[in-house]
Amino acid sequence: MRIVLVGAPGAGKGTQAKLLLDRIDGPHISSGEILRSEVVKGTEVGMKAKEFMDRGQLVPDSVLIDAMRARLREQDCSRGFLLDGFPRTVPQAEALAEVLDELSTELDAVVTISVPEDSLVQRLSGRRTCRDCGALFHVVFNPPAAEGNCDRCGGELYQRDDDRAETIRERLAVYRRDTKPLLQWYGERGCLTEVDGVGDQSAILGRILASVEARA
Ligand code: AMP
Repeated sequence: MRIVLVGAPGAGKGTQAKLLLDRIDGPHISSGEILRSEVVKGTEVGMKAKEFMDRGQLVPDSVLIDAMRARLREQDCSRGFLLDGFPRTVPQAEALAEVLDELSTELDAVVTISVPEDSLVQRLSGRRTCRDCGALFHVVFNPPAAEGNCDRCGGELYQRDDDRAETIRERLAVYRRDTKPLLQWYGERGCLTEVDGVGDQSAILGRILASVEARA
């Protein structure tokens, strides 16, 4: 299966991708995680990306697309993958279509997870991420057993720089302006399926699986 998850920041793409991973023969590829790891490593891509990420803006295609192309060409993607956070713009979707074409394959589904904007702000502002394993928590909705530590690996939980109030507003504006047109683009190509992203995690997972199976 080759699946793309699209949704506003805070819609639950990362959480659902981690749950879906058991059902897919292939890796979870998060463009945000790839970029954050480039930032930590201090690479040229990371240094260029950081200034945009800190402001809640999209990293330019010239910085990101080559890295994503290379990732999709790796051996572990040959049977499937779950793309989370890429593509986010129509030019990125065109670049993705090109790579898949070169690899003689295509997407099985593009799933958009919809959540009202008020809930997105609540979710993002309380989100905490594990520095070591990337597990996601929320100070109110999904708190860790011991404050500040990951339930899974004991790693330190931190608040992403871009999960602060001013940056959240910018990220949501960027989503409305740049990513919403992508939904229309995929809709016109008949591969978009929309899932209600409100409710508990397993209910949302069930909706995603049902919508993907309905397309198979
Ligand atoms: P995420 O973890 O998906 O919320 O992404 C965090 C940040 O990384 C975004 O706010 C962007 O600055 C950058 N980013 C991630 N994916 C993309 C993408 N497909 N295009 C441009 N920038 C991206």
